[in-house]
Amino acid sequence: MPIYEYKCPQCQRRQDELHPSGQVLSLTCENCQTAMVRQFPTPALRTSSTFLAGRNYDEFHGNKRARAHYEAMARQAGVNPTGKQYFGNLAMFPGDPRAWVGHPDDVRKYCLETGRSCDGAITVKGADPLPHEEGPYRVADDLVEKEVTRRLDGEYVHGQELGDLRERVATELAGAQS
Ligand SMILES: [Zn+2]
Repeated sequence: MPIYEYKCPQCQRRQDELHPSGQVLSLTCENCQTAMVRQFPTPALRTSSTFLAGRNYDEFHGNKRARAHYEAMARQAGVNPTGKQYFGNLAMFPGDPRAWVGHPDDVRKYCLETGRSCDGAITVKGADPLPHEEGPYRVADDLVEKEVTRRLDGEYVHGQELGDLRERVATELAGAQS
């Protein structure tokens, strides 16, 4: 899910919100109670000075079981999720331990690790696109992830099971487009 920036036309206060595209939240400015306006969607991952501070989005929609599951995945990978927030749009797959963010530096580190671009209070220039791998056609990873997420439809799997699903989806998508 993308992060959208909302801005108060009265006091210029900014706030980042994460939600599906095509949605507009009705937010009221905490400072002056003016209705906030959604800014244009940003193409790359964006952070701002209000990053985390102004974020009041619950990634799990109150689903404690889902949160506990993702937290367990993080701990298994050596990431302590305590005091951090999970950013679904950072995740390369559902529950990606790297998507837990407690500090803007976590985003910087993540971008450097994954080659993604990030703009705002933290600026990281994404890596050049990777050269094509072997094989006649390979579907972009984000397309695969999108389809995997669609098929999971809120169900949480990880490890071998998730790997298998991704492989299957990648093969199917490549077949459909070649
Ligand atoms: Zn305001």
